[in-house]
Amino acid sequence: MEKQLKCVIVGGVAGGMSAAARLRRLDEHAEIIVLEAGPEVSFANCGLPYFVGGEITDPAELLVQTPESLRASLNIDVRVNHQVTSLDAENHIVGGVGPDGPFQIGYDQLVLSPGASAMRPPIPGLDNPRVHTLRTVGDALAMRGLVTGPTPAQSAVVLGAGFIGLEAAEALRLQRLDVTVVEMAPHVLPPLETEMANLVQDELRRLGIGLAVGVSAQSITDAAAGVTVTLSDGRRVPADLVVLSAGVAPASGPFADAGLVCDARGAILVDDIGRTNLKDVWAVGDATASIDAVTGVRRPVPLAGPANRDGRIVADNIVAVRDGRPGRPFAKPLGSAIVRIGGLTVAMTGANRASLQAAGIEFTTIHTHPLGHAAYFPGAKQVHLMVHMGTDGRLLGAQGVGAQNVDKRIDVLATAMRGGLTVPELIDLDLCYSPPYGSAKDPVNMIGYLADNVLTGRLALWQPAELDWARREAFLLDVRSATEFAAGHVPEAVNVPHTQLRARLDEVAALAAGRPIAITCQSGVRSYLAHRVLEAAGLPSRSLSGGMLTLRQWLGEAASDVVVKDARP
Ligand SMILES: Cc1cc2nc3c(=O)[nH]c(=O)nc-3n(C[C@H](O)[C@H](O)[C@H](O)COP(=O)(O)OP(=O)(O)OC[C@H]3O[C@@H](n4cnc5c(N)ncnc54)[C@H](O)[C@@H]3O)c2cc1C
Repeated sequence: MEKQLKCVIVGGVAGGMSAAARLRRLDEHAEIIVLEAGPEVSFANCGLPYFVGGEITDPAELLVQTPESLRASLNIDVRVNHQVTSLDAENHIVGGVGPDGPFQIGYDQLVLSPGASAMRPPIPGLDNPRVHTLRTVGDALAMRGLVTGPTPAQSAVVLGAGFIGLEAAEALRLQRLDVTVVEMAPHVLPPLETEMANLVQDELRRLGIGLAVGVSAQSITDAAAGVTVTLSDGRRVPADLVVLSAGVAPASGPFADAGLVCDARGAILVDDIGRTNLKDVWAVGDATASIDAVTGVRRPVPLAGPANRDGRIVADNIVAVRDGRPGRPFAKPLGSAIVRIGGLTVAMTGANRASLQAAGIEFTTIHTHPLGHAAYFPGAKQVHLMVHMGTDGRLLGAQGVGAQNVDKRIDVLATAMRGGLTVPELIDLDLCYSPPYGSAKDPVNMIGYLADNVLTGRLALWQPAELDWARREAFLLDVRSATEFAAGHVPEAVNVPHTQLRARLDEVAALAAGRPIAITCQSGVRSYLAHRVLEAAGLPSRSLSGGMLTLRQWLGEAASDVVVKDARP
């Protein structure tokens, strides 16, 4: 009879429990032991901010499974409060400390899914008891207690404006705290492009959340009531509660000490099917480095989707390798991510400008500002989409912000990326449509049309980052109506509405005086029409990608300094 497989899994949440549950479905006779340092397994870490904010009211909703339910349904031996502290890979033994003292457990196969822990920047006072993290059910219960208890906290500072930091900030604001978000990067949600992040910052302000971006916390000191957080720009922000959300670090410590190969950040390196450098040791999730699908760079992608997916695949691969079959490679993550900020949905997939530039990949960026569904159906709201496209038309990344159907557009684009579609091939996507849901030419199709025009040379774009060039070296032509122009334009721009352009070509040529023409309109549609007219007249021109909407979003608060109103009556 075949020897019974004994598999030990470290970490009992996303990646670990996916591996354990799948392994049981593949092998009824395997002995499966899950060692979890915390008091709960399989909890909904992604739901924690919504419990703090009061949208999820019953903490039991956060506990997807318990050790008892896992024993009953899947015959998995889940041992909570078991912290693994050592690994002897040669002898196939993990050791640690449990409720009954030290333990040692042998394994045939070991899966590591220890996740990540909150990064702790060297800020004096960070160990103050008013500083909290939001990573476990216990953290969420404690934070909810602080905001709803007999003397509820009145104010909070959130250190770090990543996804979890902003979710925490919104949750605390929902509980009517005065909230200030502190972010060292120039804008919130650092992976987001500037023109998208400024929309998010406007929404945070609308929610009444204070922002301190481009600054860092220097110290946290006790005050008469609560603490004072001193910022690098000298501001002193009082707070009853500080939420530390300044990024995560792989929780690979005990295993790296055992000879596991990790990158400089401590992320465990695995091969394409999830094996580490140590025999019979596999790893998944936040603790590992993945290979970015677009740039090929190895980096941790701390998201629930990849952790769950790879946990399941690792179980498949353990059985495949045991049975002499090849394993199934992990899909390289696109980093698709989404967050709700007030009335906005913010979503992204693939690479952003910074990662493309770092990888030396050439790209063009396309912006559009369509309505979430047909304009004539009540309630249509504008959404803001952008994609990065390679010189060969490859879809490299996409981001979206808006109040309607942003998630569906970015998910379609993520699917297209996974399927290897080029941006012009988006034209051919057969997407479902009726007026409450979309448009006959869906915004995703429209991105395809735009991209096709760019690649075939029918449309040349200039980008908001080239504003200085447009103001100094080009002739800036604004083709909106006189009323729109008067309401706000770049000072150097001359207004010739696109409907008058054909009749005024000589005047435009004279004004351009041999300079390239940088065309602007509101969203990029009329400037495209103007570009075609100018090109036909032999006048070289480029159309501002996404028009003045994109320019204003790119400039953010600085827009009021650059975009002027017409002083003329
Ligand atoms: C508040 C919050 C909100 C989030 N929201 C989202 C979201 O909306 N969307 C999204 O995609 N992702 C979200 N994430 C991230 C997502 O939860 C993680 O990417 C995912 O859980 C990673 O899975 P994992 O198995 O690698 O680690 P985890 O799910 O974190 O599990 C690791 C477990 O291992 C245990 N462990 C660690 N070291 C040891 C050890 N030495 N011995 C024993 N046990 C150990 C830990 O206690 C932990 O329970 C969120 C995370 C948090 C904290």
